[in-house]
Amino acid sequence: MRRCLVCGASLEGRRRQTRTCSDVCRAEASRLRRLLASGGPVDGFSCVADRLDYLVGLRAAVRFPEPSGGELGLSHAQQR
Ligand SMILES: [Zn+2]
Repeated sequence: MRRCLVCGASLEGRRRQTRTCSDVCRAEASRLRRLLASGGPVDGFSCVADRLDYLVGLRAAVRFPEPSGGELGLSHAQQR
């Protein structure tokens, strides 16, 4: 079964080239790709592990941010 690259949701029934389940996940996939490609800070995160830590924190808080704005809660990341 094909799954979203970011959250693992099923992509059954989606177009073949679809890699992610939503705009939020697509933005996340592109951010992680940039982090991996650049080796430098992207959107305030210095490495993929930083970003994943932040996402795990979001999951714990239940709520995934709205796709608007493009700045996925950098203020939250600084609270750690
Ligand atoms: Zn997803």
